[in-house]
Amino acid sequence: MSDFRLPESLRPSDGRFGCGPSKIRQEQLDHLYRHAHLLGTSHRQKPVRDLVGRVREGLSDLYRLPAGYEVILGNGGSTAFWDAAAFSLIETRSAHLAFGEFGQKFVKAAGAPWLQSPIVVSGEPGTVSAFSGDEVADIFAYPHNETSTGAMAPVTRIGTGDALTVVDATSAAGGVDVDIANTDVYYFAPQKNFASDGGLWFALVSPAAIERINRIAASERYIPEILSLEIALDNSRLDQTLNTPAIATLLLLDAQIAWMRENGGLAWADARTKDSSGRIYAWADAHPNATPFVGVTAHRSQVVATIDFDATIDASAVSAMLRANGIVDIDPYRKLGRNQLRIATFTAIEPDDVTKLLGAIDAAVMAL
Ligand SMILES: *Cc1c(COP(=O)(O)O)cnc(C)c1O
Repeated sequence: MSDFRLPESLRPSDGRFGCGPSKIRQEQLDHLYRHAHLLGTSHRQKPVRDLVGRVREGLSDLYRLPAGYEVILGNGGSTAFWDAAAFSLIETRSAHLAFGEFGQKFVKAAGAPWLQSPIVVSGEPGTVSAFSGDEVADIFAYPHNETSTGAMAPVTRIGTGDALTVVDATSAAGGVDVDIANTDVYYFAPQKNFASDGGLWFALVSPAAIERINRIAASERYIPEILSLEIALDNSRLDQTLNTPAIATLLLLDAQIAWMRENGGLAWADARTKDSSGRIYAWADAHPNATPFVGVTAHRSQVVATIDFDATIDASAVSAMLRANGIVDIDPYRKLGRNQLRIATFTAIEPDDVTKLLGAIDAAVMAL
């Protein structure tokens, strides 16, 4: 087993199948290199502001943003955005779907002392929970794609009156088509389908969300500057961030957005990730010892495929054998503790590499 050698014909052109950080295409690195003169220059000057402007414009175009929606950004990734939401978006009480690690993490941030305790509709890992419709809250939050389990939720508007629909799109954005009009805040970090590095957050915000951000900022509430969405909004409108962003991260993202737009935008990316994940689910359905972890077909993620194995196959041994052969990061989410492989089928990943990966898994299983 330790001297397992994968035949050349089963080696994907790129062995990175992790769910974030994830595969970055060589063309993105070439773009970074071509624009290396931007590194080490002021983010308050035109060249870097043009880059931020291009990224904001590119995201608006990719998402066909409805009138009045804006693209805002800041430092700290999606995890920082949860705290920013607790300070700048939740008025008194939030309601959450929590059917995995990431949904649960937002619940924790929303437990801030100046807010009423959040309403939580929990679901077992591998399922998608749903609001009853009776919850009274001023934001309704859920992950579009729960990266820890591979369960994907439909994106729909929840709540009445001026309640906001706030969607964690970190692992869905750039890989799953969506109608942004069904959301007020669709936020993500760029190290998944956008194939960049981590450290930034982006949010597509509706006029109602902007109104909420401004109203809370004008209230008595204390808000740290780094977590103020109003300050992020003001800076974003100037194609800047409050503090220094990672310019290389922006350049990698810039290249990925351009690539998606050249190829047909989100509809193209959506079809590509469906193709890749469809290959995995079909393989698992036909496999005597493997089963898709997510039981409900409609909830099976097209960007993160989770496959359980029965007791005759040690998934961690398979993962280790493949890692020794250059195929990395297909282990399950660490806290899930299942006999499972978790495979990203993000937009950057070649569908034919997914087919090779499945052959490689078969070969490793045979060699066990
Ligand atoms: C990766 C991920 C996060 C965390 O993103 P960071 O940028 O590391 O904070 C949050 N939510 C989801 C759904 C994710 O997949």
